[in-house]
Amino acid sequence: MMFELSGEHETFRKVVRDFAEREIAPHVAEWDREHRLPIEVVHAMGELGLFGLVVPEQYGGSAADFTSLCVAIEELGRVDQSIGVTLEAGVGLGINPILTFGTDEQKQRWLPDLVAGRTLAGFGLTEPDAGSDASATKTRAVLADGQWTINGAKAFITNSGTSITSLVAVTAKTGDNEISSLIVPSGTPGFIVEPAYDKLGWHISDTHGLSFDDCRVPEENLLGTRGDGYRQFLAVLDDGRIAIAALAVGLAQGCLDVSVKYANERKTFGTPIGSRQAVAFMLSDLAVSVEAARLLTYKAAWLKDAGRPKAQIKQAASMAKLYATEAAVAATRTATQVFGGNGFMEEFPVARFYRDAKILEIGEGTSEVQRMLIARSLGLPAS
Ligand SMILES: Cc1cc2nc3c(=O)[nH]c(=O)nc-3n(C[C@H](O)[C@H](O)[C@H](O)COP(=O)(O)OP(=O)(O)OC[C@H]3O[C@@H](n4cnc5c(N)ncnc54)[C@H](O)[C@@H]3O)c2cc1C
Repeated sequence: MMFELSGEHETFRKVVRDFAEREIAPHVAEWDREHRLPIEVVHAMGELGLFGLVVPEQYGGSAADFTSLCVAIEELGRVDQSIGVTLEAGVGLGINPILTFGTDEQKQRWLPDLVAGRTLAGFGLTEPDAGSDASATKTRAVLADGQWTINGAKAFITNSGTSITSLVAVTAKTGDNEISSLIVPSGTPGFIVEPAYDKLGWHISDTHGLSFDDCRVPEENLLGTRGDGYRQFLAVLDDGRIAIAALAVGLAQGCLDVSVKYANERKTFGTPIGSRQAVAFMLSDLAVSVEAARLLTYKAAWLKDAGRPKAQIKQAASMAKLYATEAAVAATRTATQVFGGNGFMEEFPVARFYRDAKILEIGEGTSEVQRMLIARSLGLPAS
């Protein structure tokens, strides 16, 4: 039994950590204040090969394993969650659906630029009235004369409105009991990107509502088999949950790192606060939760890389997502407490960590949805 990542994974972790500390950490507070996704950093992440980790070489990727992608997301997330989710969604929701379900032509057309970090793509599943219950999708697409006409709206779509977004794949009803996925290129008439949301956190990450008003795309923009949209997004979300768990591990680790440093430096009553059991034990508990979250996350990634049965991966993905994201939210609370009044100040990273954490328990399936899926995997009729 092995409880370590391979030497290559650890070497790669160091490369991404150096990149994050050099290219992201010094500027991130400013980008956060400006609510700005720095496109030059997306390009740099592309040049480092981060978007192509799980992509075959023929599309410009490095055909590495899913564990490597989790390492990259964890290390970016340790410094900033918005940058981490830009990679997580860029691969999991942008590249992955095309790579998994696309035709050769679709892959040739879209993947090389996405993999190089020259473009980004989004996946539009959620609607104003269909989130956890994604089967309640109301967006419709009607096929006539070789074209799909799409009408409807999507909510909260990551990477959908940047200046380099090339497409959004959206789910739409294509029949009474039929949901399919369609590729909508940016700039298609009738595809309206609404103004960016005013969010609690993830200020650097790009999130928009989308509207489709008689938006027409060619018949061949169908992604995968007609009527398979529901199955497709369930598969996409299984992988995404492991990746979000890795993002959460990065946040919890970031909280631990800055808090231990601060607890050794900050003195009250003549001694470092880390010498007080009340503070030291908080950090001991935090270290345990980081370790447990990491083990669950990389076990799920390993199951996927080892090609284990889907049901096993699905359960492990939900467990990792549930535990790691709740651990990350608790970690930010602990870190803010350790920093005292400074923890409430934007000049220290823990304030941003605190704001950024909550969405982890909501996006790509809420904690309640994860508990429901785990209960079902135990054979319970949970709904
Ligand atoms: C910043 C951000 C980025 C996002 N990016 C994307 C994206 O790129 N693409 C995309 O498609 N979506 C995206 N989402 C949407 C996200 O996945 C949904 O918000 C999430 O799935 C929850 O759906 P909802 O918001 O409609 O909440 P609801 O489904 O309305 O849930 C509200 C509450 O009810 C609970 N609940 C609902 N049903 C049940 C049940 N059966 N049992 C118990 N509790 C239940 C939920 O757990 C939650 O606590 C993003 C959201 C945000 C905020």
